[in-house]
Amino acid sequence: MIGENLESVKKNIEMNCKIAGRDFKDVTLIAVSKTKPIEMLREAYKAGARDFGENKVQELMDKIPEMPEDIRWHMIGHLQRNKVKYIVGKVYMIHSVDSLKLAEEISKEAVKKQVMVKILIEVNVAEEESKFGVKVSDTAVLAEEIAKLPGISVEGLMTIAPFVDNPEKNRLYFQKLKQLSVDIKEKNIDNVNMNVLSMGMTGDYSVAVQEGATCVRVGTGIFGERDYTKHQPENL
Ligand SMILES: *Cc1c(COP(=O)(O)O)cnc(C)c1O
Repeated sequence: MIGENLESVKKNIEMNCKIAGRDFKDVTLIAVSKTKPIEMLREAYKAGARDFGENKVQELMDKIPEMPEDIRWHMIGHLQRNKVKYIVGKVYMIHSVDSLKLAEEISKEAVKKQVMVKILIEVNVAEEESKFGVKVSDTAVLAEEIAKLPGISVEGLMTIAPFVDNPEKNRLYFQKLKQLSVDIKEKNIDNVNMNVLSMGMTGDYSVAVQEGATCVRVGTGIFGERDYTKHQPENL
């Protein structure tokens, strides 16, 4: 089942790349495995998934040692400064950096562990009150400030678009994020590249791919609906 889902998501990505005249190889599919048991992650791994996304530090720490070492783990959820130390050096990329203070903590930890941490700046393109992320107008300045910190490389931008019934409604936000990344790239800031555009989830990844996403984060479309009625452990 998971294998079939993965294949159909990949086919969709490929089809939408064709529509947009893009190369399929330029889009990374992140399997968002939050709340799902390790058996399901193993099934996805067997079917070829190598990029996994999680949104909680405790869950990442529980799952990482249970899975093969060639997995690229993506931290996609809101990150508290006091938990940064647990994931630096273990995750491939942090998608959810939305303040200088958080970036400073990541930098401190990176220097201590002598690693380079790839990060994305989370942008609240739709300016939803309920969402984390910086405003479009604050993004370039934040990128510039973060780029001065040792141990961090700013790889691009991420957004979580509004939950909508019709994905076309999010096209504008994806276009806005793409444009923002082009604008920032043109500033040629040292230590900032805009290679990654992390946008699009189960409901809207097709539109996101058409608009230039290089990472799509798909959970439900691969693993099925999540059950939030069960207790979620958060031991840290
Ligand atoms: C849960 C989550 C996803 C995946 O959502 P689906 O709708 O299940 O595909 C993507 N991005 C982030 C940041 C998430 O928290």
